[in-house]
Amino acid sequence: DSARRQPHAAMLATPRMGHLIPLAELAKRLVARHGVRTTLLTFASMASATQREFLAALPAGIEWVSLPPVDLSDLPPDTTVETLMSEECVRSVPALTGILARLGETTDLVAFVADLFGADSFDAAHDAGVPRRYLFYPGNLHSLTLSLSLPELDVSIPGEFRDLAEPVRLPGCVPIPGQDIPAPLQDKSNPGYKWMVHHCKRYRDADAILVNSFQAVEPDAAKAMRVPKPGRPPVYTIGPLIKTNAAPRAAPCLDWLDRQPSKSVVFVSFGSGGALPMEQMRELALGLELSGQRFLWVVRSPSGDDGAAVNGNYYDAESKKDPFVYLPEGFVERTKDVGLLVISWAPQTEVLAHHATSAFVTHCGWNSVLESLQHSVPMVAWPLYAEQRLNAVMLADGVGAALRLPESKGKDDIAAVVREVVEGKGRGAVVRANVAELQEAATDGLRHGAAAAALAEVVDKWTAGRSM
Ligand code: UDP
Repeated sequence: DSARRQPHAAMLATPRMGHLIPLAELAKRLVARHGVRTTLLTFASMASATQREFLAALPAGIEWVSLPPVDLSDLPPDTTVETLMSEECVRSVPALTGILARLGETTDLVAFVADLFGADSFDAAHDAGVPRRYLFYPGNLHSLTLSLSLPELDVSIPGEFRDLAEPVRLPGCVPIPGQDIPAPLQDKSNPGYKWMVHHCKRYRDADAILVNSFQAVEPDAAKAMRVPKPGRPPVYTIGPLIKTNAAPRAAPCLDWLDRQPSKSVVFVSFGSGGALPMEQMRELALGLELSGQRFLWVVRSPSGDDGAAVNGNYYDAESKKDPFVYLPEGFVERTKDVGLLVISWAPQTEVLAHHATSAFVTHCGWNSVLESLQHSVPMVAWPLYAEQRLNAVMLADGVGAALRLPESKGKDDIAAVVREVVEGKGRGAVVRANVAELQEAATDGLRHGAAAAALAEVVDKWTAGRSM
């Protein structure tokens, strides 16, 4: 029957919204444009309300299967997100092998796709006889280039990256100061570091790598990637894949935006798990107030002194406590006419698409960056964890789509940079113009340009030589 013969891809998302969202977008494009049905596989730990709601809303043609839980209770309490995701993946390989083998028996399973922490699942695909194994890289080419170089850098750089006197220079990439190398690589004694080196070695086992970026945002890196290199799988830039909602949901913050003047509001949000240390949260509040601009701020309770939330809230995106108690005294009252605070979560793509939104203070999570570019919103870079500092370097020093806050992040710095970007004067004007150009390039690429062609080529490879 036709369902049996329709090409089918199985895709495994490691447990972060920032990994799941673009992978689901890839699934949607495969279904809608290429007639490839997909099964999204998720880990048992991905169980927050936000995540379930997202998965439940997937369109027809995309199945969702949750892997059975695995025991992680032997891992110490201070285990990092990267190690947790990696361990969960390895321990899920036996169950995944069974699931893929069953899908292979009943459908025309042409490919298995895993994301950046899931390369160990290639073993399951191999054992289950899935013909192709692809890596989906939800970050950008700068961070992929670094990842692919990591096995060599691990050997050639004896100390810690943050102690390097010179920036790290990689083909086609903006020079990366040592302290801006991604956080999981900054402590070689942590098991998380060894996991990263392990994953990066395994990327070479992929038949090809699909990257959620586009050429205009990092043209030199894209050019460098096109030069074939022995041992490196071919790389396809297929982005920007960003969240698209079938029906816009009603949200009070969107009603509030409706009542604000065009291009007047600065949107402040730190991704699905980012939280600021208490002192920075207070400076941000005072900085926004000082800037005199309208703002919409997704507020979370501050990260603990132990730095736990510097890694993001792993298991759920909901703030545990009332974050308002951490704000400076009188702040809410003083700013009530110009500011709106929402707790923990806002419909970000709708906010960025709104005509009242003028600038985005962002943690530089790559999905947030792509969403901002897709809607031509200039950014103020406030990186927190993961590879966000690297993204900030590439945006501020490379393509010029953001102004980066100085390390001190005092209220005066915040007010000045926010004003510069919102008012679009001086450096703010340059950033605004660059972002407008990037929006155009991103849209064209997806519609009929390079990104659309790259994905079509991938699907051709998946379906070549099939008996119909
Ligand atoms: N997001 C959202 N509302 C929020 C916070 C985040 O819709 O209040 C979405 C955002 O639009 C993006 C994703 O969650 O698609 C966050 O991914 P990103 O890579 O920016 O950061 P991460 O959460 O991985 O740190």
